[in-house]
Amino acid sequence: MNKIHMLDGTAISVANIFCIGRNYAAHVKELGNREELEPVVFLKPGSALSLEGRPIHLPEWTDDVHYETELVVLIGRGGKRIAREDALSHVAGYGLGLDLTARDRQSEAKARGLPWTLSKGFDQAACLSRFIAAEALPEPNRCRFSLSVNGQLRQSGRTELMLFDLAELIVYLSERFTLSPGDLIFTGTPEGVGKLYPGDRLSLRLEDRLQAEFEVGGEAGSGA
Ligand code: ZN
Repeated sequence: MNKIHMLDGTAISVANIFCIGRNYAAHVKELGNREELEPVVFLKPGSALSLEGRPIHLPEWTDDVHYETELVVLIGRGGKRIAREDALSHVAGYGLGLDLTARDRQSEAKARGLPWTLSKGFDQAACLSRFIAAEALPEPNRCRFSLSVNGQLRQSGRTELMLFDLAELIVYLSERFTLSPGDLIFTGTPEGVGKLYPGDRLSLRLEDRLQAEFEVGGEAGSGA
């Protein structure tokens, strides 16, 4: 179940799912947050994983599930206290993900100083495309990705605008956690996040190298 697929068909078991918040200035602003001096880190459970092709089921206990389109890093070689100059050599591949967020519940949690786990860790809160090998994306710090919903462009990301770049994220995480092969890092969303509705069709693109389609399932509560 907790596997992702490379474009060549290889399946890889997922270990930890690390996520970074507030990594693009314009998105920090749109949610009324402030820029942080260190990356904001949270985790999703493995049960949150959902792969392309499976309809997204919006949970009943929230009225406001937002999409957040993100470049996702797949760690191929683990390590602890990884040096900045080696960081990208630990990456096996790149994909696109949706960090689905129950924004109503997250806002409540933020106001009360509580963790984000419930608002960001529910089933299917980590939707993933297939992955391309790291070599297929030679300039990961200067690439573009986008999300269209029902044919309308909603998010357009440029990785050079990250507040903490890919190498910094790997260094930072590996100072605090032992990274393992199969770890994923959701690297943060650019601006343009918004609410999902039943029947929405989402189309994600990474340069001209990767494309993924997702559909939000019918009525809330119909289950998958
Ligand atoms: Zn996010």
